[in-house]
Amino acid sequence: NQAPVITIDGPSGAGKGTVSQIVAEKLGWHLLDSGALYRLLALAVSHHGMSVEDVEALKVLAEHLDIQFLQTPEGKVEIILEGEVVTQAIRTETVGNQASKLAAIPEVREGLLVRQRAFAQTPGLVADGRDMGTVVFPEASIKVFLTASAEERAQRRMLQLQDKGDEVNFDELVKTIKERDERDANRAVAPLVPAAGALVIDSTDLSIDEVVEVVLSEASKAS
Ligand code: C5P
Repeated sequence: NQAPVITIDGPSGAGKGTVSQIVAEKLGWHLLDSGALYRLLALAVSHHGMSVEDVEALKVLAEHLDIQFLQTPEGKVEIILEGEVVTQAIRTETVGNQASKLAAIPEVREGLLVRQRAFAQTPGLVADGRDMGTVVFPEASIKVFLTASAEERAQRRMLQLQDKGDEVNFDELVKTIKERDERDANRAVAPLVPAAGALVIDSTDLSIDEVVEVVLSEASKAS
């Protein structure tokens, strides 16, 4: 598969999701939100009452998970899991934490690997995640590692959650973000580290538009 790929990796709350979406839109490329796959798997595991010990069953589920990303006429994407709309349901902190636990299981990552690579279609793909540049698309033409301080990420996350009407405690949020970072950075498989040759961008003091600019300018240099 020769489609060009831009990988955007980094911790949660660094702005990867929004940046990836805008970059994909501007280039007219496909988008892979790989975190959504881990979240979908977490939700399915809980729906099916599966044990996280049964790693072979988790792998089979990951390989065959029935998911659809549906483009709505308003240009939004609805995420369907086993026939049910779960676009909002996968965005909770609980599901995120369960996803992060599943993501530490090698069989789970292996099960999702082929599915993720299938997103690399012409004219190109913007892939958002933790190991897009290191494991899933090591041949990517452009690799970005987007980060920001834990406090800044907690601040952004708090605004998002408040927007949804969720009650949040800032200190709790900083704590869970640091715990999740720790788990993601120190796990044995596909730890969260910048890929070799990745452009590292610290977005603590940058706007989304400024980050998008940097990524697009890299993209134009590479093509
Ligand atoms: O990015 P998001 O918060 O949706 O991802 C949820 C969890 O899935 C992350 O905390 C991480 O543990 C895991 N993940 C991963 N590899 C990816 C994307 C997400 O391990 N490529």
